[in-house]
Amino acid sequence: MSEILVLVEQVEGEVKKVTLELLTLARSLGTPSAVWAGPGITPEAKARLAEYGAEKIYLAPSSDIVEYVVAPKAELLAQLVTAKSPAAVLVAATSEGKEIAGRLAVKTDSGVITDAVGLSDGFVADQSIFGGGVNVHSKVRKGTPIVAVRPNSTAPEAAAGAGAEEEVAVTLSDTAKAAKVVERVKQEKGARPELTEAAIVVSGGRGVGSAENFSIIEGLADALGAAVGASRAATDAGWYPHQFQVGQTGKTVSPQLYIAAGISGAIQHRAGMQTAKTIVAINKDPEAPIFELADYGVVGDLHQVVPQLTEEINKRK
Ligand SMILES: Cc1cc2nc3c(=O)[nH]c(=O)nc-3n(C[C@H](O)[C@H](O)[C@H](O)COP(=O)(O)OP(=O)(O)OC[C@H]3O[C@@H](n4cnc5c(N)ncnc54)[C@H](O)[C@@H]3O)c2cc1C
Repeated sequence: MSEILVLVEQVEGEVKKVTLELLTLARSLGTPSAVWAGPGITPEAKARLAEYGAEKIYLAPSSDIVEYVVAPKAELLAQLVTAKSPAAVLVAATSEGKEIAGRLAVKTDSGVITDAVGLSDGFVADQSIFGGGVNVHSKVRKGTPIVAVRPNSTAPEAAAGAGAEEEVAVTLSDTAKAAKVVERVKQEKGARPELTEAAIVVSGGRGVGSAENFSIIEGLADALGAAVGASRAATDAGWYPHQFQVGQTGKTVSPQLYIAAGISGAIQHRAGMQTAKTIVAINKDPEAPIFELADYGVVGDLHQVVPQLTEEINKRK
């Protein structure tokens, strides 16, 4: 089976869930090899990568890789593409992942597909384009297929791989060292999962009515172990921070379950959530466009529906 490189996303040595998803996806198309860019791999991380099917783990422990912005990771992957001729390279469709994918495509004279939500035989990618209005199947026709896959597109499944380690000596160009990371500030992380990675997202819109009322949305999110999102109407009103905005000019999410409360379903909002596996809409207007998209809809006042739902979920715990 042909080798597929998977760039590992990790935080402080802990492998992120999206990497396990990419390894699972790679397994269905070939033989996955994980690429750990930079120092800091732990025995637990190695075991995790092997547990999800990494036959090989390429280790590039040079601290230069993480001390400069993005470019060294693209150079590392480009060197591996040249040396190993993999069938494809998969990265997570995060902002960093997409930048790496673009740079790698230029360096290897290859085609790139971003924001894929599925990948099938022949590396045919499913994408949702034009603000979520059109679903397309695309295929790279030049060079090595480089595909950035959205988090939550594949359910991670364990299936042991050999996890054979191979150290890679990467040679970085001066241009890869053009922008240095001078400081890292750890963002205070609440108990909730990261919005773009969460398996469940509960979002509130203008219908929530105020910043205080967002506690209703947070209550449901916490009952479900979900992340909180918001429409632009809600973030522009200052009811919820902009970093939680979902949509064309906000975050793109692709969770297993997306609950939209008091959100009308404008095309710019849909652009950020329409690839969710199951969509539930709670809206008092039965004609709201979000119902065209929703798998399940509740016509009602969210101030009554959401607390009742939260209570029922909490009762079953
Ligand atoms: C260039 C551009 C980029 C944009 N980018 C984004 C983006 O990234 N994300 C985004 O979200 N928007 C974006 N927008 C804005 C977008 O067009 C909409 O204006 C916005 O999504 C509307 O937010 P909303 O659904 O919360 O508000 P509204 O459209 O006002 O809808 C509120 C909904 O709540 C319902 N409601 C009211 N009260 C209740 C209640 N008590 N119980 C239940 N339901 C209730 C109403 O029936 C209505 O359907 C963008 C617009 C432009 C022009």
